[in-house]
Amino acid sequence: MQALRLHRYNERPTVDEIEEPKVEDPLDVIVKIGGAGLCRTDIHLYLGQWHELDADAPLPYTLGHENAGWVHEVGSAVTHLHPGDTVIMHPRPSCGFCFYCRGGNDMHCPHGFFPGLTTDGGMAHFLKTGARAVVPIDPNLQPADVAALADAGLTAYHAVRKAAPDLYPGTSAVVIGAGGLGHIAIQVLRALSPTTIIVVDRNPKAIEVAKQIGADHGVEADGSHIDKVKELTDGNGAEVVLDFVGELGAEKDAWQMTRPNGSHYVIGYGGTIEIPAIDVISTERNVVGNLVGTYNDLAELMVLAAQGKVTLHTKTYPLEAANDAITDLDEGRLPGARAILIPS
Ligand SMILES: [Zn+2]
Ligand SMILES: [Zn+2]
Repeated sequence: MQALRLHRYNERPTVDEIEEPKVEDPLDVIVKIGGAGLCRTDIHLYLGQWHELDADAPLPYTLGHENAGWVHEVGSAVTHLHPGDTVIMHPRPSCGFCFYCRGGNDMHCPHGFFPGLTTDGGMAHFLKTGARAVVPIDPNLQPADVAALADAGLTAYHAVRKAAPDLYPGTSAVVIGAGGLGHIAIQVLRALSPTTIIVVDRNPKAIEVAKQIGADHGVEADGSHIDKVKELTDGNGAEVVLDFVGELGAEKDAWQMTRPNGSHYVIGYGGTIEIPAIDVISTERNVVGNLVGTYNDLAELMVLAAQGKVTLHTKTYPLEAANDAITDLDEGRLPGARAILIPS
């Protein structure tokens, strides 16, 4: 089969002919890939930035951590999945037995692995994964349409799903950053909550798109944005602020926009959050971390996708043209769209 393989850091990966993966463990599942999303993490990987963090696989290996397709073959202990089932993969197969797995928080499992980062990924004709990671989806969904929801979409859904109980009628939610993740978060907020959605972004075009998909207000991040958000929220700030930027000052703005007893969700990263302890106790504001999402989060997000409530703009490329997709992503030629690689 063909696979997009990373051989050396700071060099583009290449499409190679390699052996198909085989079932070895009774809980292995081989998936025929229908679409694999390309994301910035793949660029960070080939530039060796994850290698510096000691969080990648031995070279060479196959990229691709946003995968969807059809079950091809299952191990002898897998009874709930069958060849032909349409599926999307939770990004992190896990053990199923540890404290975190028992609580549904598979992404914290110390025995998990991450296809596309720590083992061979899905930019190939076939992917080997573990049965725990496989989420059956509506057979009417096209894997290529939903593959990119496996990572970016799941992360956005996880944060909004945690915030949703606090977003009853009359509340406000701020979305900082209307890029790939923010775009999904707005659609999920609209689907799960009657809250008033305020989008903050530097780019007026991104704000326009955000309004078309469900945001109630758009605020340009031009220096007056904290005041504008306060004006829209009775001077107090919002019950929930979802920060998809996490750097360049957004991580400070998010806290300022959060009202007393409200919650500041950290999703983007890069900056440093410094908050006086007295501010935290005197206002009872929360800072909430978010890491990918749970298996159930992904299953729920796929229901919204099947209902047409969450959609992604995608541009598809044959797997052989993976490097064209990487160039387009790297040079900013995919505004608002996700590149999806499809094996022929
Ligand atoms: Zn990704
Ligand atoms: Zn576990």
